[in-house]
Amino acid sequence: MRSNGCKQANTPESGRPLGRRRGIARGDQTSALAAEEPGDRWVAADSSNYSWADRGVNDINWIVVHTTVGSYSGAISWFQNPDANVSAHYVIRNSDGHTTKMVDESNVAWHASGFNSSAIGIEHEWTESQGYISDTMYQQSAALIDYLADTYDIPRNYYTSMSAPCNASGGIIEHRHAPTNSYCSSSNATACPGPDWSGSRLMDFVGDGGGGGDGKFEMDQTVYTTANLNAREQPGTDSTIVATMPEGSAGRIMNGPESADGYTWWGLHFEADNIWGWCAEPWLEV
Ligand SMILES: [Zn+2]
Repeated sequence: MRSNGCKQANTPESGRPLGRRRGIARGDQTSALAAEEPGDRWVAADSSNYSWADRGVNDINWIVVHTTVGSYSGAISWFQNPDANVSAHYVIRNSDGHTTKMVDESNVAWHASGFNSSAIGIEHEWTESQGYISDTMYQQSAALIDYLADTYDIPRNYYTSMSAPCNASGGIIEHRHAPTNSYCSSSNATACPGPDWSGSRLMDFVGDGGGGGDGKFEMDQTVYTTANLNAREQPGTDSTIVATMPEGSAGRIMNGPESADGYTWWGLHFEADNIWGWCAEPWLEV
């Protein structure tokens, strides 16, 4: 049995019946978006499912990526349901990348506990029966992320560590790594995004993305450790050691480069052991 992605109570991801629907959206809740806006249409989430705010460029620093574990239409319906108490700013359809905006970026959607106030949430349709994430959806998501990164001055770096928001000024982070407090000492208890999600594939399509464009290695490149090498939770020699990888371990570049403690650091996914960590460049080679 495969593990599920997002598992918050009362989300469309949970597979619970959607319950009472609110009926047809009011006329002012649904519209086509103007051409220059990202997304294909606007369908308002119920106003009880997000917090009104007046956020601007300085308040929005992170993009949280999710998968729905449920259909595109089901997610949209759920965010319209006043019983849901969850929402996301955008929902994207797997088959064709069709995008629905549901909460204005100035407002705080409820998608990553403890982390919502500085974040924009993007839900990507995924169901177990689909069992894949389409390149079309990655491309549409990347185009949206490019727009948001430009508009809100969000760095195009992809993070898979809950301490990232305490060490970086902003970026893209997976729901499961979104910290639940300002100390970055615990993260959202969820498997979201789900098993078919690839952050590196997403970043393939994000403009000059991945944070790997300027350094020795490229995003998604496979590199090997030239010694028994510590993989750390964050860049830096004082960061917690996630694992010590044997010499010759293969890792995929997922993040970086970052400078800390006199070294250049790369965020790696050691896929054979499903270990994520930051390693120092001098002991990595192609
Ligand atoms: Zn999620």
